[in-house]
Amino acid sequence: MDRADSPTLGAEGYRLRRDNAQYSVAASGARGLLYGAYSLADELEHGSFQAGEFVPRFADREWWSAAFQANFNLPLGGAFDRPIEEISAAVERIIREAPAYGINTLQLMGRAGEGGIDVSWFLHYDDFPKLQRRQLGWGIERRTAEIRKLARAAHAHGMDFLLWDHELVFPDNMLEAYPEMRGTGYPYCFSNPLVFRFLDAKLDEFFRRLPEVDGIDLTFAETHGYNLLEHGGCQCERCSRIPTEEKVRRVILAMHEACLRHGKRLEVRSYNQLPTHQAVMRKALRGLPPDIRIVSKNTVVDFRGTDYPDNPLLGAFAGQPELLELTACPEGSGYGYIPALLGGFYKDKIGRMAVERKLAGVALRVDYHLQYGHATFFTAGPAVLTFDTANEFNIVAASRLAWDPRADVRQMFLAWSRRRYGERAESARRALARSASISQGIFFVKGFSLLTHLDMVPHLATIDEELKKSYLLEYFPENSAYRATYEKLKSPSETTIAEVLAGKQAAVDAAEESLRDARGIPDLERGFTTARNAAVLWKDIAAAYFRLLRVEQGLEDGTKLTAAVRTELADACRIEKQSAQVWPVYPAARGITAYDFAREVIERGKLCCISVPSCQ
Ligand SMILES: [Zn+2]
Repeated sequence: MDRADSPTLGAEGYRLRRDNAQYSVAASGARGLLYGAYSLADELEHGSFQAGEFVPRFADREWWSAAFQANFNLPLGGAFDRPIEEISAAVERIIREAPAYGINTLQLMGRAGEGGIDVSWFLHYDDFPKLQRRQLGWGIERRTAEIRKLARAAHAHGMDFLLWDHELVFPDNMLEAYPEMRGTGYPYCFSNPLVFRFLDAKLDEFFRRLPEVDGIDLTFAETHGYNLLEHGGCQCERCSRIPTEEKVRRVILAMHEACLRHGKRLEVRSYNQLPTHQAVMRKALRGLPPDIRIVSKNTVVDFRGTDYPDNPLLGAFAGQPELLELTACPEGSGYGYIPALLGGFYKDKIGRMAVERKLAGVALRVDYHLQYGHATFFTAGPAVLTFDTANEFNIVAASRLAWDPRADVRQMFLAWSRRRYGERAESARRALARSASISQGIFFVKGFSLLTHLDMVPHLATIDEELKKSYLLEYFPENSAYRATYEKLKSPSETTIAEVLAGKQAAVDAAEESLRDARGIPDLERGFTTARNAAVLWKDIAAAYFRLLRVEQGLEDGTKLTAAVRTELADACRIEKQSAQVWPVYPAARGITAYDFAREVIERGKLCCISVPSCQ
C-alpha cells in the first residue's frame, strides 16, 4: 500500500498495479486506500485483477437501512418487540459489506410517528425543564449507546453516518408544558419563537449526546406532529401571512445553522405526496446554501416498479447537490417476497438520468427485505437481508453504477451469478432474467400500479382510489396516454379485460418458465413458486375487479363475475394449502386476505350462492 500524489485520484480514488507477483494499491486519501484494498482482495480471490486508476464518478454514494425505521423492543421505544441486538446486527452486516462497493455514507431511516428512529429519540430536553417529567422510556441511554456503536463502525468502514429526522416533532406533553405555543385553530403556532428555540435546542442536545453522528437527513410529509406540507396549521394573523414554502424553508435553514454549529452536514428529502406539495418543495428547496444536499426519489411520491416516469424534481435545483433515491428491495414491486432483479432499470436511472441531470450521487435503500424493518410487517422468523436473497444483485448493480455509471450491467450479472450459483449459474440467470417483467406483470395493469395495497391484496375501495388518484394522472395531467388508459380501465370493455388478463397470464407463464429453470436451486424455487402464486392470484383479482365494474355499470349480468370469484377462491385455497397462511393469500402489512377480497366483491356485486371456504 502506498500514498499516491496523483491529483486525479482525489480523496476516494485508488490505483492498482502489478509487478510480477507484487500487487500494490495507491491512494491519496484513507477512503481511497480502503476501497482499493477491498477491490484488490476481491479481485485476487476471483482471479479478476485489473490494473488502472479508479475514481468514483459520483461524489455521494449512500446506503440507507430501514432496520430502525420503526421497531425493536417496545420499552426501548419501537413498535415491535424484537431484540435491539438483532436489529443492530443487521445494520452491522450492511456496514461490513459497504466498503467493497465504495459506499461513503450510511443512513438510518426512521419514522417518528411509528416509534422509529428520529433525533427526538435521544433527547432529555435539557433546555426545556418543563418537558423533563415526560415518560421518556428507560431505553434512552441504551439506544444512544447502540447508535454510537453503529456510527463508530460506519466510520471504521469509510462512511459518514447520518440519521433521518423530521420537521417539528414535538413531545406529547409539549402543549401542557408550554401552553403559550398553542395556535389558532391548530395545536401549534408556527410564529411562536419557542418553535425555533425548540429546534435549535433539540439539535444542540442531539449532537452533544451523539457527536459520532455526522449529520441528519430531514424528511417532510410523514411526521405525526406538525406536518408542514399537509397541515394548514395555525390561523393566527402572522402565520396565515407565511406561505408554506417559506415555513419549509425556515425549518431547513434553522436545521442547517444548527448542523453548521456542530460541523455536521444536512440533507433534505424532497419527498411529497401531492402535486401542490411538489410545487411547494420546488420553491422551498431552490437556492439553499450549496452544502445542503437534496434527495429525490426516482419517481414522484413513492417507488412504483420500473416504468413510471422520472421525477421532475431530479435536476430541478441548479447549484444544489442532488441525490437520486432508489430502492434495491424492490419496494413497490413485490417487497421482499419475490425475486425482481432490476439491473436494466438502475442502468437507465443512474447511467442515463443521474448523468444527464448532473446529479451528485445515489442513495440506495438496501434492506426492505429486513422483514422487521417496518412497523407494519408481521412476517414471522428472523430478519432476512437483501444480501441473503437473489435481489442482492440490485445492491450490486446500483452500487457499482453509483461508482461508474458506464459499467456494463450484463457483465456484472454474469460475474455475480457465477459467484452466487456456481455450476447452476446459467439456469439461475435464465430464471432471473425474467424476474423484473414478472413482478411488473403481477403488480401493474397497463402501466398503472393497481389492484394492490403496497403489494398486498387490497380492499376494493383501495383499488377505486388508486385508479382515480393515480400518481400518473395527478402529477402528469397533460399526458393524454395516461388519461386514455384510465378511461379504458374505469369503464372496461370486453377487449380491455381480455388485454389486461393476457398481460396477467404472460406473468403467470413467465413465472412458470422461471420456476422450471430454477429447479434444484432452493432459494429461487421458493422465490418463483411465490411469484407464480402471486401472478395467478392477481390475474384472478383483475378478472373479479374489472367484471365487478361492468356489473355495477350495467354492462353485464353477474354470471362472469360469479365465475371469476369462484376461480379466485379456489386458487387462494390451493395456494394456501401449498404454502400455508402467508403472502400473497394473507397480507403481511396493510391489505386484506384473498378471502376477504372475495367477500367484498360478493357483497358489492350482490352475488348469491358463493360460499367462502375457511380452507383449514
Ligand atoms: Zn400562529
